[in-house]
Amino acid sequence: MLTLEEAQAALRARITPAAASETVPLRLARGRYTSAPLTAAVDNPAFDNSAMDGYALNHAELVAHGFRLPLAGESRCGAAPQALQPGTAMRIFTGAPVPIGADTVVMQEDVERVGDLLRFPEATVVGDQVRRRGEDFRAGEALYPAGRRLEPHDIALLATAGVATVPVVVRPRVLVVATGDELVAPGEPLAPGQIYESNRLATLLLVEALGAEAVDGGVVRDDPAALRVLLAGAMDYDFVITSGGASVGDHDLVKQVFGEIGKIEFWKVKIKPGKPVAFGRLGPRTHFFALPGNPVSSLVTFKLFVEPALAAWHGSASRPLEVPAVAVNGFKRKAGRMEFLRVRLENAGGELRAEVLKGQGSHQIGTLRHTQALLRVPAESDGFDAGARVTVLPL
Ligand code: AMP
Ligand code: MG
Repeated sequence: MLTLEEAQAALRARITPAAASETVPLRLARGRYTSAPLTAAVDNPAFDNSAMDGYALNHAELVAHGFRLPLAGESRCGAAPQALQPGTAMRIFTGAPVPIGADTVVMQEDVERVGDLLRFPEATVVGDQVRRRGEDFRAGEALYPAGRRLEPHDIALLATAGVATVPVVVRPRVLVVATGDELVAPGEPLAPGQIYESNRLATLLLVEALGAEAVDGGVVRDDPAALRVLLAGAMDYDFVITSGGASVGDHDLVKQVFGEIGKIEFWKVKIKPGKPVAFGRLGPRTHFFALPGNPVSSLVTFKLFVEPALAAWHGSASRPLEVPAVAVNGFKRKAGRMEFLRVRLENAGGELRAEVLKGQGSHQIGTLRHTQALLRVPAESDGFDAGARVTVLPL
């Protein structure tokens, strides 16, 4: 049995990164991974501009004229202003270009009108309220390395930088399948012994949220022949993810059939929930995961294994985020396996607090209503008391 770290290392070593990339417009780039470094096309700010509504002036002239200047002209957004007439101040608005000849802006709230003159505070400092061209980033500057997942704020930044299209790694094709004779689609009547299928649905949505193309492979019966047909037809996917049938019961055939058709790299990890989780290869292209059937185990193992695997496939080294927190309540157990507890988070005066929820059985999906993170209990730990420092993985 591998530890979580060993299994994750084995995983990274066995993922063949995507070879192909494509170019997409910004509007479609969310959640995609860059396949090449991205650089700025223009400076930001693009020109010296005002941080405030106020008056643009030349500081040396301001001092020379005893902090009183007449008003002349206006600079508004979207147009180049005239040059500043010597010995005057120009009306200016937030984001409008600072005129040639001006080096300082005074915000309107600080300016008094005395007859035809504007009176400025003597504390005015040269360069005040001017956003300098290129002070954020410069044209040609590297903005993102290859392998970065683009979020909406990244897209906003790229738009600002004059980038219209981005080279991204192609989306992986991911086949998602549930296994089990007991599984029925929600909406159908339940016969005795049947339950509603949920893992496949959750996995499809999680895969999509990671920027991949999720393909619904439906529910496969606990029948080796049906599983062989499925896997034999799955070789043109980048990933195949099944749930259920991965342990050692008589009807848990997934691991067995995976072993026949592909190569299993590991199938037992010392974690709770999620001990029976298989990872391996199926032909030259396809990576497979056999996740456990219990809905919570399937979600936890997706987070711990599939998420980093998809990142590695995209050429990204990112790992699930882990943050320190303080336990609201204690938790006792027998040491042995690393364990992941479902917790609710609260922010108490800048400190993150994690409450271990009631109902930690891996079949107890009801607990997910309140779950915001997984609390990681180290293998050698026999639990913790209220107030203890713990580590959580936000979901
Ligand atoms: P298994 O790993 O196939 O032994 O399944 C473990 C438990 O998870 C059993 O109670 C199954 O009924 C349940 N289960 C398996 N697959 C799913 C699924 N796709 N949706 C909901 N429950 C499932
Ligand atoms: Mg089953």
